Amino acid sequence: MKDKDSDRIQKAIEMAKEAHEGQFRKTGESYIVHPLAVKKILEEWGMDKDTIIAGVLHDTIEDTDLRLDDIKKEFGESVAFLVDGVTKLSTARNGMRDIDTYLPATKDNFLRLMIALGDDIRVLIIKLADRLHNLRTLSALPPDKQKKIAKESLEVFAPLADRLNMGLLRVEMADLSFKYVDPKRFNELKDLIEKYNKSAEKSLGKIEQEVSAALKKEKIKFTLSGRVKSVYSLHKKLAKHNQNMGEIYDLTALRIIVDDVTTCYLVLGIIHSLYTPMNGRIKDYIAMPKQNGYQSLHTTVITKDKRIVEVQIRTREMHEYAERGLAASFYYNEQKLTESYKKGKIEHLPTNLLWITELQMTAARLREGKKVDLKKLKINLFADKIFVYTPKGDIIDLPKGALPLDFAYRLHSEIGDHVVGVKINGKMSNLNKKLEQGDIVEILTSKNQTPKSSWLDRIITPHARQKLLRALNLSARPTIAPTDKPKKKRKPRTTSTTK
Ligand code: MN
Repeated sequence: MKDKDSDRIQKAIEMAKEAHEGQFRKTGESYIVHPLAVKKILEEWGMDKDTIIAGVLHDTIEDTDLRLDDIKKEFGESVAFLVDGVTKLSTARNGMRDIDTYLPATKDNFLRLMIALGDDIRVLIIKLADRLHNLRTLSALPPDKQKKIAKESLEVFAPLADRLNMGLLRVEMADLSFKYVDPKRFNELKDLIEKYNKSAEKSLGKIEQEVSAALKKEKIKFTLSGRVKSVYSLHKKLAKHNQNMGEIYDLTALRIIVDDVTTCYLVLGIIHSLYTPMNGRIKDYIAMPKQNGYQSLHTTVITKDKRIVEVQIRTREMHEYAERGLAASFYYNEQKLTESYKKGKIEHLPTNLLWITELQMTAARLREGKKVDLKKLKINLFADKIFVYTPKGDIIDLPKGALPLDFAYRLHSEIGDHVVGVKINGKMSNLNKKLEQGDIVEILTSKNQTPKSSWLDRIITPHARQKLLRALNLSARPTIAPTDKPKKKRKPRTTSTTK
């Protein structure tokens, strides 16, 4: 069995090598380096053999002469299906326009994309591995491409990894991307985290000792580790708390991994008898898991030398799941999984990932040509977010309830400052209209337009508010505060109409 599997993988490698012969990556390496790296990532995630083989072959249909039939003949239906899915997915992403196949007409490209994925969530996992390797080697691309790919990864793929509870992947993707999206901020925060950790090192060591001693005394088996916050999650948290570092309590966290759930609560009690817990910061994600299935106890305590430390307590299984998420459940269920795919059943997923089941069922119904009310499909992938599109098909994510001006300022302040109107899905609309999931938004600008203070009521994102306030301040200055020295009259900024 084992030998047969490695024979198949070997065969796939040879097939891919031959197909990509003579192709090179932007890094200068021969192309095969990339599919092999994707294979390695999928292996590390513990994915099943079909997924690994499909990972090796994932770029062959799009980029080489190999045909899907060749793959089907050699590796069977399941591998061919996965490769086909990844190919469609990347074609769909090029402009997010046509996933035609069996999909009904819906304006929501993201939903279409998700339904296309719903056939087999392993397609998405291969795509995530593909994207991760591309991010790791992003430095070889020209700067504008770097930014574009990094931004998309930050806005679409890292949240997807989070939604699948693939914690390690989310952190790596987010930080790799953020470094390209905002290099200055990235380095600033990275330094800040390093400095903080250095200063906290000594007292953390002491806390670890105290905790270890207390747990040993109770004869509890445990593993203790520190966890460092990712740069991007610190950035997001600071944005939420008006850049106030004093509000960030989890820069360093202590992680305690134990054997079972009962012990988790026991350890929580012991921690609270050692240190004072902070009010309102005890979170029981074991009894009430996060939407992505994440489970753990969190508490923030004040230590004897007045340090604030977050403590996370969980079982080994929960820990594994928090780091590898959906991939971990594939690992545990590989046998069952293969079986249920064969039978067309979808019962292998953890209950917390029911949205995937729903997605798969919907996709299956669509394939059979049955009618499906897409509005009833609750893909709560991003419960608090909507995705809208520029006329070119670029995805912009915004919080629910966002208005056209939020969108305009997200594109560029030059666009925001000169808005004269908006077209939503091709029709003229107005600036009070809440944007909805999947809308195609076209901002109309004029260089004679100036920012209006009344716009403040038509904006909900802090980002847009900040930009508008800055613009108002600038354009107000000459009239509100005339000075002795004659000031140069502010030239209206030039801007191209709709971008
Ligand atoms: Mn690829």
